[in-house]
Amino acid sequence: MTKQYQNFLSHLECGLTAKRYAAGKVHSLSDAGKPLLARYDLDGMKAAVDRDKLWARDGGFWKWRELLPVTRTENVCALGEVDTPIIQLSRLHKKAKVLVKDEGRLPTGSFKARGLALAVAMAKELGLSHLAMPTNGNAGSALAAYASRVGIQSTVVCPDDTPSINMEETQLQGAQVFKANGLINDCGAWVKAQAEQGKWFDLSTLKEPYRIEGKKTMGLELAAQMGWSLPDVIFYPTGGGTGLIGMCKAFEELLALGWLEQTDLPRMIAVQADGCAPIVRAYERGERFAEPWVDSHTFAAGIRVPAAVGDFLILDGVRSSDGFAIAVSDDAIEQARVIIAKEEGLLLCPEGAATYAAYLQARADGKVTADETAVLFNCATGLKYPMPSAGLALDLKNY
Ligand SMILES: *Cc1c(COP(=O)(O)O)cnc(C)c1O
Repeated sequence: MTKQYQNFLSHLECGLTAKRYAAGKVHSLSDAGKPLLARYDLDGMKAAVDRDKLWARDGGFWKWRELLPVTRTENVCALGEVDTPIIQLSRLHKKAKVLVKDEGRLPTGSFKARGLALAVAMAKELGLSHLAMPTNGNAGSALAAYASRVGIQSTVVCPDDTPSINMEETQLQGAQVFKANGLINDCGAWVKAQAEQGKWFDLSTLKEPYRIEGKKTMGLELAAQMGWSLPDVIFYPTGGGTGLIGMCKAFEELLALGWLEQTDLPRMIAVQADGCAPIVRAYERGERFAEPWVDSHTFAAGIRVPAAVGDFLILDGVRSSDGFAIAVSDDAIEQARVIIAKEEGLLLCPEGAATYAAYLQARADGKVTADETAVLFNCATGLKYPMPSAGLALDLKNY
């Protein structure tokens, strides 16, 4: 018999105007063209759910069922999710506590698994049969894997410079993959046009309400792993910003539930590459909405997002937590990746390495101090990305 979980989803709410929308129906953006946020009966949850019993469950991010929107267990799509480990950079930093949360251990090798698992489970629950999205890489493979797992069709459109490994893993896991001659936003426009003709449902970042709920579990899990307390600062590599927005939402919900041992929340640091830094520019200009970045370039493809529909939610989260936004160069990212691999034995993805480059820069600028506990997010396994060539020639015939 499958175990029954109580569901506390009460409604959805526009992230900008707070206009309410009914749960249990298919939604994309709000009437104002902004992301919808899931809202729960947190008082009911507080009375019914025991924090420590919940945390003692198996199932990785699926253990947070009562804080998630899925109502029926048969719609849960599981591929062996785990709580991702936290690894201290103890060789590089003897005094400061610098921790890496390694999201590369999740199914499909990236934290996109969290968001897409929830988006796909809700699509299944709401009766959708074909999902499509544009992607620079990891989102596509996570969509493909979870959609195949529940028998839903998936289609992915990639800019033609997307690494071939991402296109190949995605196709192998059951999605139809298109390689298009345009950037991610051009691919997105095509997906949207086809969606409007009824060909499929558009699952683009933040254009449906449930990916944030999946990414929210990073914040829940981090709090539980740290003994229901939180670090002083969190460095997050920010593309569409789903994870940063999701973690801020997690912390608010944990506070409302009274599950945290402390009430001061971490400073949220949005990290971008200096070749594509719309959020950093808006932060520095004091703006709430970010102007699209022209001529985006960085080898850290996961954060090459020139325009984010949740820009104001990212910027609100950064400012209200007393954090900041910071851009780093591709050279600094590569150096950070090399030093962490060589000194700590930890192979980060470029976006994860960007958070370490940003940490070093923030320490040098005095924006973060040695007595602050910092968590850096490594969002994907380093194995999916190009590496420097290796191998010294050894002649075994003449030694
Ligand atoms: C998607 C992605 C990001 C950005 O995540 P958001 O939450 O959308 O900002 C960063 N790094 C990698 C490797 C990614 O796949």
